[in-house]
Amino acid sequence: MGAPNIADIDNVGRFYSLVSRSGDRKTVIVGHHNPDGDCIGCLTGMEAWIESAFGKTGIMIVPDSFPDYLKFMHNTGDILVYSRQKDKVCEAILGADLIICMDFNNLSRTEGMGDLIAASKAPKVLIDHHPSPEPFADLVFSETEVSSASELTWWILMAMPDVSVPFQTKTSLYTGMMTDTNNFCNTVYPSTFLMASQIAEAGVDRERIQMEIMNSFSEDRMRLMGQMLLCNMKMYPELKAAVLILDKKTKDRFNYRDGDSEGFVNLPLKIKEVEISALFTEVDGFIKVSLRSKGAVSVNRLCRQYFNGGGHERASGGRLYMPVDEVADYFEKCLREFLQA
Ligand code: 5GP
Ligand code: MN
Repeated sequence: MGAPNIADIDNVGRFYSLVSRSGDRKTVIVGHHNPDGDCIGCLTGMEAWIESAFGKTGIMIVPDSFPDYLKFMHNTGDILVYSRQKDKVCEAILGADLIICMDFNNLSRTEGMGDLIAASKAPKVLIDHHPSPEPFADLVFSETEVSSASELTWWILMAMPDVSVPFQTKTSLYTGMMTDTNNFCNTVYPSTFLMASQIAEAGVDRERIQMEIMNSFSEDRMRLMGQMLLCNMKMYPELKAAVLILDKKTKDRFNYRDGDSEGFVNLPLKIKEVEISALFTEVDGFIKVSLRSKGAVSVNRLCRQYFNGGGHERASGGRLYMPVDEVADYFEKCLREFLQA
């Protein structure tokens, strides 16, 4: 099997020339709110490639902070975090002559930065794997039949006239793909294995990546997981659903840190009868919603309809604005209505 035909060759040529013409520290690479492994993977992978291919640096920006276990990737210490470095981020976006948006389909996913990005005159490139992207970019690589934005980035780089890809990029993109597929469980395509095999052949340290991602949790996080499963999980057998509630009190009890609840929403799906799982997390100002499905139910539609968000068919997210003790009943009511429609 050869490389999948997912990165249009003319667009790849346009992308190459945009990056090659952009100045040093003038290419801004933007990720989404609550940055995950795919987001940090493709940002750092892209930046490392720009450095190695053109001898100049790009500026990586995310809306808010990301978990410690992603910090082993290339130059993560240089990533600007909008929520605490607003001035630097504004300066970078205002000075940009190219903006690369990665792993999101809607500028609202960049929080307060969305207006700044929309107002910029710099050409914008979108590299994303979510359905129905908002039309804000001048050059769009949007493909839902790939595992991750990191995988899509890999195929774009593979279609470049100069296919030399640095080691850090391979490590980052492999990590992004591995985390977005939940370690090769979900949305894995033949092209995903091909990418993995090409990167493995190049000698990337998969054991280290595995260790950093899967076996680097704190004791508090493990005990929090136990608490969530034992006491904070509610079952709805009739709806084939389960709900996990992570409220502030529980967070405080286990010294919650960013990323500690990563993967929790997948846990109830391990129960044979459960087809839809929800994790509601109390944060400042709203309830963060995470939905997963292992059957035919589209949580993308469910999320768009009732939870102010969206995402993929089997993995989506959104927000609720109500007290945390009301969300389980709201979920039950909405899911019942959704399934009956
Ligand atoms: P997670 O549950 O891991 O936060 O998000 C799962 C998926 O839903 C991701 O692919 C993410 O892009 C999408 N998603 C998460 N939160 C939101 C949101 O607030 N709005 C939209 N449109 N999508 C979201
Ligand atoms: Mn992704």
